[in-house]
Amino acid sequence: VQSDTSPECMMAALLLRRDKKSTAAHLKSDLNRTDNSSGVRQLQELLDSVLNPEKPPADTEALDWCKCLIAGEEGFEEFCKTVRSYDNATLCGLVWTANFVAYRCRTCGISPCMSLCAECFNNGDHTGHDFNMFRSQAGGACDCGDSNVMRETGFCRRHRLRTGENVPSVPRDLLLMSEMVLPRFIICIIQYLRDGYTEPDTSAERDLQKVLQQLEPQITFLEELTKMGGAMRTVLTKILTNQQTFKDLSMGQEENVFAKKNYENYLSALKNSGLVSVEEKAQTGAAEPTRGSETGALGLLDPSIMDSLKHKCFLEELLFWTIKYEFPQKMVTFLLNMLPDQDYKITFTKTFVQHYAFIMKTLMKSQESDTMSNRIVHISVQLFSNEDLARHVTEECQLLDIMVTVLLYMMESCLIKSELQDEENSRHVVVNCSEALLKNNTYWPLVSDFINILSHQSVAKKFLEDHSLLMLWMSFVSFFQGMNLNKRELSEHVEFESQTYYAAFAAELEACAQPMWGLLTHCKVKETQEYTKTVVRYCLETLQIWFDAIGFVDELAPNQVTFHLPLHRYYAMFLSKAVKCQGLDLESLLPDQEMLMRIMVHPLQIQASLSEIHSNMWVRNGLQIKGQAMTYVQSHFCNSMIDPDIFLLQVCASRLDPDYFISSVFERFKVVDLLTMASVHQNTALDGEQERPMLEGALTFLVILSSLRIHLGMADDEILRAEMVSQLCMNDRTHSSLLDLIPENPNPKSGIVPGSCSFEEMLSAVADFKAPVFELGGSMQQGMYTPKAEVWEKEFDPIMVILRTVYRRDVQSAMDRYSAFLKQSGMHTTGNPWPPYKERTPLHPCYKGLDRLLHCKTLHIVIFTLLYKIWLDHSNMSEHVLCMVLYLIELGLDNQVEEDKGDEVRPSEHCHDSWFPGTNLLSNLHHVINYVRVRVPETAPEVKREREPPASTSAEASNFGQNVREAQVFSLVAERRRKFQEIINRSSTEASQAVRPKSSSTRWVPPGTPPQLVTEILEIHESMLSLLIKLHQKLSAKQNSLSATWLEDMDANPNRHAHGDGITAIERILTKAATRSHQSKRSIQEICGKVFPPVAPKKNSPTAKKTMDKEERRQRARERQQKLLAEFASRQKSFMETAMDVESPDTEAAMDLGASEVKESEVLYDCVICGQSGPSTEDRPTGLVVLLQASSVLGHRCKSDEAKKLPTTDEERIYPADTCGAAHDVRLALMQSFFKDSSCLQSVSIGWDGGVYVQTCGHTLHIDCHKSYMESLRNDQVMQGFSVDKGEFTCPLCRQFANSVLPCRPGRSTEVVSWHMPSNKKTSVLVKEVEDLQEQLGFFPTESNLSKEMELVIKDIKNTTQRKYMDYGKNPGSPDNDFLFMYSVARTNLELELVHRGGNLCSGGASGAAKRSCLNQLFHVLAMHMRLYSIDSAYNPWTRLTQVPCVVPYSCLDDERPEVPMLFRDCPSLLIIFVLTMPQPLRKEHFICLVRMLYNLQYTQALAALSAKFSPEERQAWSTSGTLKKFSLFFYMINCPFNTICALLLCFLSQLSSSVWSPQSIEYSLQQFCLPYLRLSCLLQHHLYGDNLSGCPEEEEFSGLAGCLGLLDPAPQPSNPMYSASCLDWTVSAFDLMSQWCSEVTGLADTQTLLVQDLQWASPHLLHLPDNYNTIFQYYHKKACTACKKVPKDPALCLVCGTFVCLKGLCCKQHGICECVWHSQHCGAATGIFLLINASVIIIIRGHRFCLWGSVYLDAHGEEDRDLRRGKPLFLCVERYRVLEQQWVSHTFDHINKRWGPHYNGL
Ligand SMILES: [Zn+2]
Ligand SMILES: [Zn+2]
Ligand SMILES: [Zn+2]
Ligand SMILES: [Zn+2]
Ligand SMILES: [Zn+2]
Ligand SMILES: [Zn+2]
Ligand SMILES: [Zn+2]
Ligand SMILES: [Zn+2]
Repeated sequence: VQSDTSPECMMAALLLRRDKKSTAAHLKSDLNRTDNSSGVRQLQELLDSVLNPEKPPADTEALDWCKCLIAGEEGFEEFCKTVRSYDNATLCGLVWTANFVAYRCRTCGISPCMSLCAECFNNGDHTGHDFNMFRSQAGGACDCGDSNVMRETGFCRRHRLRTGENVPSVPRDLLLMSEMVLPRFIICIIQYLRDGYTEPDTSAERDLQKVLQQLEPQITFLEELTKMGGAMRTVLTKILTNQQTFKDLSMGQEENVFAKKNYENYLSALKNSGLVSVEEKAQTGAAEPTRGSETGALGLLDPSIMDSLKHKCFLEELLFWTIKYEFPQKMVTFLLNMLPDQDYKITFTKTFVQHYAFIMKTLMKSQESDTMSNRIVHISVQLFSNEDLARHVTEECQLLDIMVTVLLYMMESCLIKSELQDEENSRHVVVNCSEALLKNNTYWPLVSDFINILSHQSVAKKFLEDHSLLMLWMSFVSFFQGMNLNKRELSEHVEFESQTYYAAFAAELEACAQPMWGLLTHCKVKETQEYTKTVVRYCLETLQIWFDAIGFVDELAPNQVTFHLPLHRYYAMFLSKAVKCQGLDLESLLPDQEMLMRIMVHPLQIQASLSEIHSNMWVRNGLQIKGQAMTYVQSHFCNSMIDPDIFLLQVCASRLDPDYFISSVFERFKVVDLLTMASVHQNTALDGEQERPMLEGALTFLVILSSLRIHLGMADDEILRAEMVSQLCMNDRTHSSLLDLIPENPNPKSGIVPGSCSFEEMLSAVADFKAPVFELGGSMQQGMYTPKAEVWEKEFDPIMVILRTVYRRDVQSAMDRYSAFLKQSGMHTTGNPWPPYKERTPLHPCYKGLDRLLHCKTLHIVIFTLLYKIWLDHSNMSEHVLCMVLYLIELGLDNQVEEDKGDEVRPSEHCHDSWFPGTNLLSNLHHVINYVRVRVPETAPEVKREREPPASTSAEASNFGQNVREAQVFSLVAERRRKFQEIINRSSTEASQAVRPKSSSTRWVPPGTPPQLVTEILEIHESMLSLLIKLHQKLSAKQNSLSATWLEDMDANPNRHAHGDGITAIERILTKAATRSHQSKRSIQEICGKVFPPVAPKKNSPTAKKTMDKEERRQRARERQQKLLAEFASRQKSFMETAMDVESPDTEAAMDLGASEVKESEVLYDCVICGQSGPSTEDRPTGLVVLLQASSVLGHRCKSDEAKKLPTTDEERIYPADTCGAAHDVRLALMQSFFKDSSCLQSVSIGWDGGVYVQTCGHTLHIDCHKSYMESLRNDQVMQGFSVDKGEFTCPLCRQFANSVLPCRPGRSTEVVSWHMPSNKKTSVLVKEVEDLQEQLGFFPTESNLSKEMELVIKDIKNTTQRKYMDYGKNPGSPDNDFLFMYSVARTNLELELVHRGGNLCSGGASGAAKRSCLNQLFHVLAMHMRLYSIDSAYNPWTRLTQVPCVVPYSCLDDERPEVPMLFRDCPSLLIIFVLTMPQPLRKEHFICLVRMLYNLQYTQALAALSAKFSPEERQAWSTSGTLKKFSLFFYMINCPFNTICALLLCFLSQLSSSVWSPQSIEYSLQQFCLPYLRLSCLLQHHLYGDNLSGCPEEEEFSGLAGCLGLLDPAPQPSNPMYSASCLDWTVSAFDLMSQWCSEVTGLADTQTLLVQDLQWASPHLLHLPDNYNTIFQYYHKKACTACKKVPKDPALCLVCGTFVCLKGLCCKQHGICECVWHSQHCGAATGIFLLINASVIIIIRGHRFCLWGSVYLDAHGEEDRDLRRGKPLFLCVERYRVLEQQWVSHTFDHINKRWGPHYNGL
C-alpha cells in the first residue's frame, strides 16, 4: 500500500493520465540522455503502479501499457516489424502442438527424432530421400537449420542461407525499453502464478485452469515477443537468465505485504516439491520391510538428486511453475519458442535437468498424465536429441544419474513381492503390472528420454564406463524379472481374465529392451570389449542375486511361467554381440556349469509352456494366456523376447552335457513316459490327448534349437533374407506389412541395414512384385510381393516359419503355398509334400558344441524308440513326429562332431552301452538293438505274449537269459538326475557349500498310487536303419519298396531328393548315411536285400491307427471338401447361366417365335426360391428381383467431356450451373413462369436429379415365395447387412442386393406376333387409328393379385426418392406431378441405359446389358398405372401434332396462362407419354407412326433453334442464295412466318456469330439436334419389340438410327448425305403446320432461351484429381468449412461436385443429420462419394448405409495408406479411380462392395 501524497505518486499519476503513446516517447527520450536517472525513476514509478499484481490479470490495461512502452511512439505493430528485420536466427524452430502435420526425413536426419515443418520441407530438396509425413502426437519443433540434428543438405532454401550473417546489428535504443520493462512484466506474471497456486490436497476449490485462463493474454504476449526473432529473444534470454535481476525482484519490495505473502507462497510450494527422501519413506513405513537385493542398489543413490530446489533466475522459477501447473500449453510453447537462442537453450536444458526429479513426481500425481506426458516429451525431445547438449548436461549436471535414479524411484512405488518359485519366502520384488503407473504407461516420457540420450555415443559411453550406474540399472531391470507370473489353473476356469500382460510386455520392451538395444549399438567394435565385459559381469551378478532371492536351486516350481526374463535377455544379447562383433571368446564370458544349468531353466520353461498352451493345457487361464504366447513370438518383439531365449538355450546346450540337456527337454515337456518301447504306458503328467502335441512340441523345439543360426553365425544380410523369405512364404505381403514384420533389431526400419544390402535390394532379390490388380467383381488388390520360384525351391525354411508364426494356420498356409508351387512346377505332383529339409550355415566356432546335441546316446535312444513306435503304430504318434525325427537324424548326419576322445574323457560313456556303442550318430545308425527291457502295466499286450513262451530249446533259454542282462531300462529322468549330480560334483570344489535340500528325488514321484508295473523284455532286433527302411515300406504301402540295388540308382540323380514326401525324406537320409559310411551302406544293402514277410505290422488297437493317420485324414478331408465346394460352385454357375437364358423371354422368345410357327405357348419363369417353373398369372404372379435406387448421375453430366478439376487453391472454383440437372431445372422454371402449369409438366422430363433407376439381376421368383422369404429373413437376425424392414434382401440365387420385386406381365406369344405384323397402311390412316386409340377409355384392370403387386411396386418406386424430386408443379401432390414423375421414371431408365452404352447406340446389338434389362416389364407396370390418368382430349398434343386447327386455341382462354407451344415441348417426353397412355400392347405400326409424327416436330425445333443462332445478315444471305433452293423447307423457315420470331432473336449470336454457315454444317447441326430423340426412340423400340440394334460407325449414327426406325428407306443413296429432311413425313400441309407452330411462339419473351437448347450431354464424370495426394492434403487438411467456418476434425470432399464437408462434425449437423449424409441426399439423391482428407480413403454413402471403398491413391509399392499412417507420398491410381467412377455411373456400389453398415446419419 502506498500513500497518495508522495511526490513519486504524483508523478506516476500524472504520467498515467497522459496518453500512453506520448508517455512512452517522453520516457524514451529521457532514458536516452546521458544522465537517465530521472527517466529510470519515472519509469519505475510508472511500472509500480501499472504492473500491480494485486489487480486481477484480466485487466489488460497493464498489458497495453507494456506494449506502448516497449514500442515507443511508432506503435506496436510497426515495432514488431522493425525488430523482425534484425532477426539473425539461422534456425526455423517453429513450434507445433498435437495434430500438426510435419515431416521426417531419415536420409537427412542425424537424430531419429528430427522433424521439419511443411514449409521447410517443401522448400528443401528431399527427392529420392526416405521421408514421410506424420501427424504430431506430442508436439514438436522444426529442426531446419540445426546441423546438430540434421544434415545441412536437407535445410530449406531460407535456412540454408544463414541469414544471420547479413543482418545489421541492432541499434542500441531499439530494445532499450524492452530491457527495462520486461523484467517487471515477467515478475508480475510470476507473482500471479505464485498467488494462484494451491497444493492439490490443501483446498477443494483448486482450479489451476482458471488461473491460467486469466493469465492467457500475458503469456500470449510473451509468445508474440519470441516471434519477433533473434534480437528480441536475446533480450529475453538476458532477462530470464540474469541472477541479479531475479534477486532484486523476486522477493518484492520490503514494505509490500502482498509481495511478501506471495513470496512465502512460493517458498512453501518449493518446499513441497522435494522428493520424499529415503529416510522419510522408511519412517512412514511405505517401504517394503523385506528389501532384498535392491536396498543395496538404492544405497548408491546420490541424495542430492532428490534435494529440494533452489532457484537463481526467472527461467528457473518459470519452469518451476510450468511444472506445478502441469505444463500449460501456452507456457510450453513460449519456452520452446525461445530455443533457437543458443544461450537460452543451454541454460534451459540445465534448468530442465535440475527439475527432472520434480517433473517425475508431478507426473505421477497428475490426474491427466497422458497430456502431461506429451508436453514433457514435447520439451525434452528438443533438448536431448542434440548430442552436444546431451553430453554437456551429462557431464555437468549428472543427467544419467538423475535419469536412472528417477526411474528407479518411480518403479519403486509399485513393487510387490514376487511369487515365482517360492511364494512364501521369496525376497525378490517385481513391479505390479496392475498398477496405474504400468497400465497407463506413465513412465514412458522418462524412458523415452533415457533411450534418446543413450542413442548418443558419447553419453552411452559415459553410462557404460560408470559401474555404479550399471549396477543401479541392473537392479532396475531386475524389477521386471519374473513379473506378471502365470499360474496354471488346474480345476476351474479363472473368474477374471487379467489383462495385465499388456502392461508387462510393454514395460519389458520399452523400459528394458529398448535401452538395451540402445547400448548395444555402441558395443559393436573390438575397442568396446570392456563395456561388454562389464555389462555381462553385472548381468551375471544380478542374475545370481535373483536366483538367490527367489530361492531357486535346481527344480522349478510346477505350473508356473513368466514370460519376462529381461536379465537373461540382457546377458544373451551382450554375449551374442561380444562373439559376433567384438571378437571376444565366449568361454571368458560364461559362468560355471552350475550357473549355466540354472540359467537354462526359465527360458526352457517358457518354450515348454508355449507347447502346453498350444496343447490346451492352459485353457482354464482364459484367452489371455494365448495372448501372451502370441506376443512372445510376435515378429515385432521376437528380437527382444524369443530370439534371445533360444540363443541362450543354444549357448547352454553347447556347453552342458548333451545327455543332460536332452533329457531335461523331454522332462520339461512332460513326455518322458511316452518314450517307451512298450505299447502301453502311463503318463502321470499329461492327459492322453495332450501327449501327441507335447511330443511334437518337444521335437520341434529340438529341431529349432539345433538348426537355428540367427545368433550363431549368420551375417546380418543372411538374417534379413531369412526373415523376409519366411514372412513371404506364409503369405504374399504388401511392402509396408513386410517392413513391419521384419524384426526391427538389428535391422532398423530405415532401410539402412547393418549389412551391405538394403531392405529394397534384398526384397527384389527374393520376391516378385505383383502390381495392384482388380479381381473380377471389382474388389481391389494392393501391390504385393510374392516369393520367387527359386526361393520356394531353395530357400523355403519351414523351421524358420514355425518359429515366426503366431497362428498355427500360417504354417499350414506356407505349406499349402509350397505344395502349390511344387505341383505347378512339376517337382512333386502326387500327394502332399513334407516340409523340405534345408542345410544350415556353419556354426560359429564358439558354438560348435551345439552339434553334440545331435550326437548323444539319449537322443539316439529317443529316435530309435520313436521310429519303432511309429512303425508299430503306437498311440499318439503322428506324421509330424516322424517328420521331426527324420529332421533330427538328417541334421545329425550333416553336422558331424570331430571325434575328440583324446582330451575329454566322458564319464557318461558307459551309460547306455547296451543301447549304443558310441555317441556318433553315423555309427549308431546301423547298430542293432536286440532286446529292450520295459516296464509295463500288467494288462499290456506284451505281458500276455510273454506269458505263453513258445516251447524253447535250452539253448534259446540260456540265450534269453543273457539278453535279459543285456537289456537296459531306459529312464530319462534318472539319467538327467545322475548327470546333474555329476556336474555338481565336478564343480563343487569351488562352489559354495550350500546344501541343496530341494534336489531330493522324492519330489519327482507323482502323487497317487504308483501303477502296478511289471518288467518285460521285448525282442527287437532292429537298427535305426532297418526301422527307416521298414517305415519306407509302410509309407509307400509296398513290401520291399527298396530293392537291393536301390542305392546305386540313387547316386545317379541326387537332386530329386530335395522336395517330396516322407518316402523321399527317408530315401535322402539313407543315401546320406550310405555315402558317409561304408558300414551303413553295407547294412542298408543287406536289409534291402532281405525279403520281408508280406504281413503289414499288426495294429495294436484301432485308436492307435486313428492317431497315426489323423493328419493324413484331415488333409484328405480338406481336399474332399474343396472338391465338393468347387463342384457346387460350378453347378451353381451353370444353373445361373441356364437360369439367365430364359430370364428375358419377351425380347428373346419374341424374336424366335415371331419367325417360327405361331404357338399358343405362354412365357415360363423359374422361381429361384421354390425351383418351380411356370407362367406369371393374375392369380400367382411372378416377379423380377429388382433394386430401386434414386440417382443423380444424369443430372451431374456436363457439356464438356472433360472432367471438372478438383480445386486445390483458393483461386479455383467449381460452378454447378452447367450441369444437366441445373439446366433442366432452369428450363422448367422458365416455362412455368409463362405457361399453364399442367401443360408445362407434360412438356419436360424430370428425374435428372433424384430419378429412380431400376436394375435387376435377372432372376425371377413367385411373389408369394418372396413374401415368405422376407419373413424368414426377418427372423434370421444374423445375416443382416441390410434392413429387411425397408424391404431389402439379397437375391436367393446370386446374392445381389435388391429391395423390390417387379411383377411380370402374363404374356402370350401370339400377342408378340401380332405386334410385328407388317403394316401397309397409309400414314394418315395410322394417325387416325392412334387418335382413336388415345380416345379409348382407360382400361382399369380387375382387382387381382397381379394388379395389387403392380400398385405396390409403384409405391416402392415413389418411396425410393425424396418428395422434392417428385413435386415440380405449383400444387404439391397434384396428379400432374404424379403423371410427370411416372413417365420420367421411364425416361431416367432409358437415358441411363444410353449412358451405360457409351452415350450412343453405335455399338448396337443385343448386348448383355440389354439382356439383363427390365425396361420392358417396367414399361408395362408404368403403363398400367398411367392409364389411370386421362388426358383431356382438348389438350391432347397429338391433335396439334397432326392437324392444323381451325381456331387458335389460346385466344379464347385469356383468363389462364397459355399452353406450352409445340416448339418448346420435349419430343422424347411426348413419345413416352403417348406410349404409356395408349392401350397395351401397342402395335408396332402405331409406335412407328408416333415416332414419325414427333420427328416432324423435333426437326422443326431443330430448324428454329438453328435459325435463332443466325445473324440477320446470314439469314438474308441464305434466303437469297441459290444453294438454298435445295432446302425448300429450310427456305420456308427462313422467309416465312418464322421470320418474324427470328427477328426477335436477332441478337442471339453467341460463339457462332462470326462463323460461316455451310450446307454441310447446317445439316450436321440439324442431325445433332435430332439425334438424342432418335436414340431414345430406337432404344424404346428395342425394348418394346425386341428389335436388334444394328451397330454402325459413329459418323453414320443418324442414318443408322433413322433406318432402324423405318424413317428412311432401308437402302439410302450414299451420294446424298442430307438425311435429316428426307425423314420427314407429313400428313397435312407441312407449311401450314409449321407456320402454326411458329406462330405459337411469336411475340413471347425468352423464346431464344427456350428454343435454343443443347440436347447433348457428355458422359458423367467424377472430378479430376491431381496426381499427387499431397496437393489435395495440403490444401484441404487445414481448410475451413464454408458452413461453420471452422477447420473440421474430419474433413471430407464430395468427389461428384467438390463440396467440402465436416464428416461427423456436430458443428454442421442439421435436423439430426450430419453434413456428409445431408450432402449425399442433396448432391446424389442419397448416394455420396467422399474422399476423407485425413485418411486418403473413400467412403460411399448409399441411403442409410455406408461403406469404406478404399483408396484411389497408392504409394510407390502399390499400397494404400489408410489414415496416412506411413505418410509416404501417394499417387493417383488412375485405374482404381476409373473403377470408382464406373461403379458410380453403373449404380453398382451395392453389388460390388460387401461391407456395408448403417451410418445413423452420423457421418
Ligand atoms: Zn521450419
Ligand atoms: Zn527451413
Ligand atoms: Zn531429406
Ligand atoms: Zn416359387
Ligand atoms: Zn439374382
Ligand atoms: Zn456433391
Ligand atoms: Zn461443415
Ligand atoms: Zn462444421
